[in-house]
Amino acid sequence: MTATLIDGRAAAERLRQRVAERTTELRDHGLIPGLAVVLVGDDPASRIYVGSKTRQAQEAGLRHFDHRLPATTTTAELLQLVQKLNADPDVHGILVQLPLPAAVDSATVLAAIDPAKDVDGFHALNAGRLALGEDATVPCTPLGCLILIREVLPDMRGKRALVIGRSNIVGKPMVQLLLQNDCTVTIAHSRTRDLPALCGEAEILVAAIGRPKAIAGDWIRQGAIVIDVGINRIDDGSGKPKVVGDVDFATAVTRAGAITPVPGGVGPMTIACLLLNTVNAAIRSRFGVAAEILKP
Ligand code: NDP
Repeated sequence: MTATLIDGRAAAERLRQRVAERTTELRDHGLIPGLAVVLVGDDPASRIYVGSKTRQAQEAGLRHFDHRLPATTTTAELLQLVQKLNADPDVHGILVQLPLPAAVDSATVLAAIDPAKDVDGFHALNAGRLALGEDATVPCTPLGCLILIREVLPDMRGKRALVIGRSNIVGKPMVQLLLQNDCTVTIAHSRTRDLPALCGEAEILVAAIGRPKAIAGDWIRQGAIVIDVGINRIDDGSGKPKVVGDVDFATAVTRAGAITPVPGGVGPMTIACLLLNTVNAAIRSRFGVAAEILKP
């Protein structure tokens, strides 16, 4: 058996289309969703991510505001910029690209972002609301994973789901989303015992570890839905770094029912969900919290 491939590029394209359509409608009301992107230093991977975010925002009709700051920027200077963006009515979403330089107090900077403009969904208020099952801005990567699961399984009620990884930006919010969708959720991490046995029970498996091919294909339950969040660069001897996921795709594809490839799975969804969160932040800022937002 070969698994169905869950095409993240196509799903992201469809979501971007919907974002672009809603943005066009909002323009008729004189509202242009605005995304401010803050990049500190010149980490090459961050520069690529920020470039993609601003390009896709522009293509979807959003306004974007680029703030590129030197690596020597202090916490106080960043806080000042965040306050300015919080107060700017043209800015509906604020994204501070992580990681920040070691000398900057990242937690303080992220906490200073107005929760209504926190389109990454990292603010404690949004994390807390999500955990309480209240209306919240959901972090982009797990939101993208949920959309991809729904592509192949619209009703996940009662399914046994395993999330491997407990980070605040992927693992924990993923658990909340699966719970909200009535899955029975297990969360695993580096201290979990007998991970292969847990994998063998999971009807939905989300791997967000950051270890190349850490999940062996023969651990996967026959017919499971496998969402691979991992982005790992490895040297396969070709002289060019190769990007692989956390799941050993070549073997997993023979057991899973559906699986996301890496690249081309979760990755493209993350930016599309950022655009969605920005448009929804703009809608809320203009029409209030009860306004009809664009559903993921
Ligand atoms: P973190 O490093 O913050 O978290 C990794 C988690 O995996 C931790 O909870 C850790 O456990 C757990 N872990 C580590 N090793 C193992 C192991 N051998 N077995 C089980 N669990 C383990 O990573 P992130 O959540 O930020 O990212 C995870 C991966 O997803 C990375 O590859 C990252 O590049 C990718 N990513 C991809 C995105 C996309 O757009 N596609 C966006 C964000 C991330 P413990 O808590 O015990 O240390």
